[in-house]
Amino acid sequence: MKLIVLPGDCIGPEITDAAMAVLSAVNGARGLGLAFDHDIVGLESLEKHGSTLREGLIARLPSYDGIILGPNHGAIYPPASEGGINYSAYLRTKLDLYANIRPARTPPGKHPHTANPFDLIIVRELTEGHYADRNMHEGVADLMVTPDVAVSLRKVTRFACERIARRACELAMTRDKRVTVVHKANVLKRGDGLFLESARAVAKEFPEITMDDVIVDAMAAWLVRAPERFDVVVTGNLYGDILSDLAAELSGSLGLAGSIMAGDDLCAAQAQHGAAPDIAGQDKANPTSMILSVAMLLEWLGARRGRADLTQAASAMTKAVDQVLADTARCTADMGGSNGTAAFGAAVAREAIQ
Ligand code: ATP
Repeated sequence: MKLIVLPGDCIGPEITDAAMAVLSAVNGARGLGLAFDHDIVGLESLEKHGSTLREGLIARLPSYDGIILGPNHGAIYPPASEGGINYSAYLRTKLDLYANIRPARTPPGKHPHTANPFDLIIVRELTEGHYADRNMHEGVADLMVTPDVAVSLRKVTRFACERIARRACELAMTRDKRVTVVHKANVLKRGDGLFLESARAVAKEFPEITMDDVIVDAMAAWLVRAPERFDVVVTGNLYGDILSDLAAELSGSLGLAGSIMAGDDLCAAQAQHGAAPDIAGQDKANPTSMILSVAMLLEWLGARRGRADLTQAASAMTKAVDQVLADTARCTADMGGSNGTAAFGAAVAREAIQ
């Protein structure tokens, strides 16, 4: 089984190195037989190849069993015509990685920002919605009508709504069998109405699932007040992006929450947070999100390929993260500790092969 590692921008290389230290340790100790190819995307690729994501690399990606992808600092990319492709967005649509699975859970014994511990998963649709850059066959649906008037079009399809709702229900069947649909159908009666209607239709395929729905603004308040109320949350692209940052920070830090972008045949591990340019190159970033994302990729592969050893390796990595997080001194600065990115990764790697 072969994975490709693309570290990306700013803190990307540091958190990817830390995650790879853990994965390599587990791979060796458990004889998983994983092989790795390494390549570049983002600013380094722009400098070397004139594009943040080159054609030859895109064509090769589906031949891998999985992708380990660092964050991109798209805000400073030149226009796409000059090689500045937002590779995260591009790969989501090009490879149809439509399901963004974003867990947020408080580490055992620690819930500094909430009254109670919580453990929820946000399932976010990635290929359409408010993100106008991925809504058109040709061109971009984010337009200047006059220099002072902008129009951004949202696309919502029954197909995409139903398949993301189905993934959420399947996930809930492995957990507490509860799904909450987050929307704004009271105002966006067609677009969000279609999302809600599709989710309810899919829920009928899962008679054991209890489905409720919450309006997105109320959801922000509910997450702060009582995040333990939720099990699996399914929502559109933009709401999912915002709510998952909120849930991750409530769990302790933006650097804590793992994430995968899954299609039907291919999956990419990518940390929930962005490229964090303010702390890049300083060995300060918390690599937990990237380590847990890689663990989620192993879990996804374990389920897809019937490889129990990968599933077990994923839970060993997650347990090792919990053990290090439980000891504040070994945490990174965002969690009140004094370890740097690399030392945290090394500590998790040691725990993972105990
Ligand atoms: P994007 O638009 O790509 O999501 P963003 O600009 O919204 O990115 P992030 O890069 O996700 O923001 O991070 C916001 C801030 O949170 C960072 O500036 C950084 O201070 C902090 N942060 C993010 N990730 C981490 C991490 N892994 N460890 C510690 N702090 C982090």
